[in-house]
Amino acid sequence: MTKKIAVIGGGIVGSTAAFYLSKNHQNVTLFDEGTGQATSAAAGIISPWLSQRRNKEWYFLAKEGAKFYQTLMADLSQYEPVHDIYQQTGTILYKKTPSLLSKLTKLATERKVDAPEIGNILPLTEKEVKDVIPNLLLDDDALFVSGGAKIDGAKLVTSLINQLEKMGNTYLNQQVTRISYDNNQWQIHANGLIHSFDQLILACGAWVGDLLRPLDFFVDVRPQKGQLIELQTSIDTTNWPVIMPVGETDIIPFDNGKILIGATHENDSGYDLKPDEALLNNLKEQAEASLSAISQEDIHQIRVGTRAYTSDFSPFFGEVQDLDNLYVASGLGSSGLTTGPVIGKTLADWVLGEETAFEAYRNKPNQYIYKNQ
Ligand SMILES: Cc1cc2nc3c(=O)[nH]c(=O)nc-3n(C[C@H](O)[C@H](O)[C@H](O)COP(=O)(O)OP(=O)(O)OC[C@H]3O[C@@H](n4cnc5c(N)ncnc54)[C@H](O)[C@@H]3O)c2cc1C
Repeated sequence: MTKKIAVIGGGIVGSTAAFYLSKNHQNVTLFDEGTGQATSAAAGIISPWLSQRRNKEWYFLAKEGAKFYQTLMADLSQYEPVHDIYQQTGTILYKKTPSLLSKLTKLATERKVDAPEIGNILPLTEKEVKDVIPNLLLDDDALFVSGGAKIDGAKLVTSLINQLEKMGNTYLNQQVTRISYDNNQWQIHANGLIHSFDQLILACGAWVGDLLRPLDFFVDVRPQKGQLIELQTSIDTTNWPVIMPVGETDIIPFDNGKILIGATHENDSGYDLKPDEALLNNLKEQAEASLSAISQEDIHQIRVGTRAYTSDFSPFFGEVQDLDNLYVASGLGSSGLTTGPVIGKTLADWVLGEETAFEAYRNKPNQYIYKNQ
């Protein structure tokens, strides 16, 4: 039976959910205001296997998220070329010492057993790295994994939204100001109108509390500001892998000389979207120290976005007690481009009444969203 479904939030989670629901002939309306969206500002690294994060639940989700990109790209490529959106050109990782680098190689080899999508694992000497990336100024040995990828988040959501519109569904670039539930229907207030739906997906990232707090729910989600710089260089970056030096600043090369440098993680800036000169200068200096032939003139634009994070830095997605016919996802933090598509697909599957590999997550939102006493 066709359901009338509202999705609030057109970042990577909401757009993926709306795309798969559209593919399954549902009646979907996607509301997205867009200001501060994390997905469009993000760096685009998909390479979770060598993270030192110990949380096994997170690792399972991130590993499945990286794997799911193959399915998403195959599904999307039925409608349009995806080469500009997703490229699997590998990742090069650095560690502080040779011993830490060999530990990383061991971890990669162990993890490959359950995650063959990690691809080839190749320790590289400094010279071998420079044969691939002549402009790199880092002079240590490194580790290359061929399964690493980069995604252009803005292009991905644009493409998913284009497809859902072509399938006859609706995208509204509007802010939802209020939601309420009457007679088994969700009422969505936007642009002075009230729309009714059978089912609601809340995929509004760091802003999820704005819609649930007025319904008297506590929501454990906070905003984290992230900034990065986008360089437009004359360097031939075709097929360059993502470079992850020691520290928090990564180098993400796209085709045609575009290189992203970032990103910052600012927990105390709220929803502020103003570029911060001092932090951006720091990123610029790191870019100049890592790559030759980079100059101030190459800075094409600054990107600022708002990530969502929870008090224990875990993402959640599923149902909320006392909120019928509603699914929610938030708190994806720094790895949401990696986990976002598989979360969006899972929400779509749940709406369609299908079982998924993530049944254990269904009730997790109740740890982060609950009725005020
Ligand atoms: C600088 C930066 C770099 C990053 N780099 C990486 C990376 O390399 N790899 C990685 O895996 N992850 C990365 N991330 C994290 C990733 O981008 C996010 O976790 C992910 O995009 C979150 O997706 P989302 O769909 O949950 O939320 P968002 O992308 O934030 O989308 C939420 C959308 O909901 C809309 N919305 C909210 N409230 C309303 C409302 N009331 N009405 C209508 N619309 C509403 C917002 O406007 C927004 O468009 C990065 C993030 C940033 C900021």
